[in-house]
Amino acid sequence: MTTSIVRATCPHDCPDTCALLVTVEDGVAVQVKGDPDHPTTAGVLCTKVSKYTERTYHKDRLLHPMKRVGRKGEGRFERISWDEALDTIASRLKNIAARDPQAIVPYSYAGTMGLVQGESMAARFFHKLGASLLDRTICASAGGEGYKYTVGAKIGTDVEQFQNAKLILIWGGNPIASNLHFWMRAQEAKRRGAKLIAIDPYRSLTAEKCHQHIALLPGTDAALALGMMHVLIAEELLDKDYIEQFTFGFDRLKERVAEWTPRKVAETCGISEEEVVGLAREYGGAAKRGDPVAIRVNYGVQRVHGGGMAVRNIACLPALVGAWRHAAGGIQLSSSDTFPKNQRSLQRPDLLEKQPRTINMSTIGDDLLRDGDPAFGPRIEALVVYNSNPVAVAPESPKVVQGFAREDLFTVVLEHFQTDTADYADIVLPATTQLEHVDVHSTYGHLYMMANNAAVAPLGEAKPNTEIFRLLAARMGFDDPCFRESDDEIASQAFKRTDVRAVHFDWDSLKRKGWQKLNVPDAPFAHGGFPTPSGKCEFYSEQMKAAGLDPLPAYVAPHESVASNPVLAKKYPLAMISPPARNFLNSSFVNVQSLRDTEGEPHLDMHPSDAHERGIEDGDAVRIFNDRGSFVAKVRVTDKARRGLVVGLSIWWKKFAADGKNANEVTSQQLTDMGKAPTFYDVLVQVEKA
Ligand code: SF4
Repeated sequence: MTTSIVRATCPHDCPDTCALLVTVEDGVAVQVKGDPDHPTTAGVLCTKVSKYTERTYHKDRLLHPMKRVGRKGEGRFERISWDEALDTIASRLKNIAARDPQAIVPYSYAGTMGLVQGESMAARFFHKLGASLLDRTICASAGGEGYKYTVGAKIGTDVEQFQNAKLILIWGGNPIASNLHFWMRAQEAKRRGAKLIAIDPYRSLTAEKCHQHIALLPGTDAALALGMMHVLIAEELLDKDYIEQFTFGFDRLKERVAEWTPRKVAETCGISEEEVVGLAREYGGAAKRGDPVAIRVNYGVQRVHGGGMAVRNIACLPALVGAWRHAAGGIQLSSSDTFPKNQRSLQRPDLLEKQPRTINMSTIGDDLLRDGDPAFGPRIEALVVYNSNPVAVAPESPKVVQGFAREDLFTVVLEHFQTDTADYADIVLPATTQLEHVDVHSTYGHLYMMANNAAVAPLGEAKPNTEIFRLLAARMGFDDPCFRESDDEIASQAFKRTDVRAVHFDWDSLKRKGWQKLNVPDAPFAHGGFPTPSGKCEFYSEQMKAAGLDPLPAYVAPHESVASNPVLAKKYPLAMISPPARNFLNSSFVNVQSLRDTEGEPHLDMHPSDAHERGIEDGDAVRIFNDRGSFVAKVRVTDKARRGLVVGLSIWWKKFAADGKNANEVTSQQLTDMGKAPTFYDVLVQVEKA
């Protein structure tokens, strides 16, 4: 028997991007462990990826190309050869492109975070074709935009510093489920005497383990941050020297937050005045004493109408109290802009002959149902889906399904498994998993460049995404040299060597070592240097003004809430959020039996008073509905959900639910204030016994 250990990287949409050690025996991966030497992974993986061999060698892996033989959505397919699959796709795409290539739409997201198997060869292919561009907004664009208006780029506190903080605000996230290695640092901080405060409408696993939990109404985080700023300024819990040197627009901010009294904030957020004042005093008081205070804000806060503004407001806080002076102070939303990614080389936008239209992935339901017109461009005639499962994850699913079911739509899906989306494909192509291909990763939660070596040969006839688009490019007659580059050649272009932030990126060496930290200062903004137009942390933003936004921190009310839409709330009085279930990662892993068994079945957490009013008891099957649709779940009556809120941990594959539906039946295609992102947690529903 030959045994080897291969260095790999977790590819999933998680900030932790763990370093993996894969044990391979006679060409078969038998174990996946966390690398004990990688400082953030520290030898620990989440339950999902600890079972990675179960996913890789799953009996349902797609192992050969298939064409549809049943109705769309029925999931009946028959095996075909690669030649037949590729010839069919090339001929259909050529035909459509001859009329207007913009009628072809790529649809992809973070099914893998790899820079090679994500958007490299695929982007080159669609650019050369002249297909519509895709605005990849489904997860992070609202918060990202709000953060960048304030701080300048998605750069923040290094996760490896959090254990030295004395106060940590965990705002809009449940790191035990979705940012485990941050949570390990937060726990270490707690052991060293730090206070942890969770800010989340739901008492998540994480909130239960913090010293304090502030359960505000969904979509009101921006108001809480405004209230904190009001108290910090009123009580002079400020770092005046930092404000003077490194911020822009303080006087106008002071005027703006004057109206956000603790009483007004408490009413808006559905919490007490004491909570507002107490939080600001904890934060400003600790900073005043010279203690490092840190915020881990996560994407949960920005899945609402005012999500961009909420993150912008929260990102103002560290500069007010001078928290950036400490390596363990400041805020982290994402570390992604710390990486000097070379997207132009990877994706080759220069292959575009002219600028095509852009389709927003968050409104794919509406857009698939639109006819062509001069404003929209041509009706969508073909979709190529890779690294995504839109039938399960895109908002307002009834419309998404109606669109995918169009008989005149030609749909290709690259996948590992027969997902809800693959059921609607005309052609399904088997893609390799992370253990079967090469990739290189930046991350959005730590500061290491990461390499992924192929541990085993592709299973069955599966091929890497890159190879699939290479073969398609050849059939389309695209002969630019970039379509012949190998995966290693692509990976070697991932980071700019000349950028001062890269420590001499060398792909061969990274492949051997597995990971390498960027050479960046421990405290990124201790001495200012914000990458904003003014070079300062911008409380006032000319860029926002130019974009037609309020240039100062503000409150943008939810599209759907009791306060903002009382008429709708009469019919649908309960707010619903659908954060990640611990054993799933978006819609990945739902088909792994052991993980699905742990989750059980689709649940809805509901406050005892709300349940009692409706005659609902723990364990009842209930129907959750609004004008957009409905789905069925089993109720857990619990005060983890605050009154007026129901929580459906997600994202279930529809085919594993009793009624063939999931929480996206009721979510909407209304967008956020910034970043054109979906508002998954800005939803009113009613609940009744099923
Ligand atoms: S999903 Fe996240 S925590 Fe789990 S192994 Fe991957 S990167 Fe690590």
